[in-house]
Amino acid sequence: MRLLCPYCGWRAHEEFDHAGDAAVVRPQDDADLAAWHAYVYLRSNPKGICREYWQHTRGCRSWLRITRDTLTHEVIDSSFATGQSAP
Ligand SMILES: [Zn+2]
Repeated sequence: MRLLCPYCGWRAHEEFDHAGDAAVVRPQDDADLAAWHAYVYLRSNPKGICREYWQHTRGCRSWLRITRDTLTHEVIDSSFATGQSAP
């Protein structure tokens, strides 16, 4: 599988570390225990298109938000997680 870093271009996925589901939303500080439990421990394992955080640890070290298809490994979108634009 190859992933797209907005700064470095296409690279082998071995250069990246997976950093979790980008669709998970942090609950409010006063949320109940069930909401915090779901936020910390519960993850889906979707088949198809999903948004994930990745870090290009063996490259430019940027944090990325990548949308990809987990069935085909097609990368649909890639951007810096911080919202900055590519140079
Ligand atoms: Zn990079």
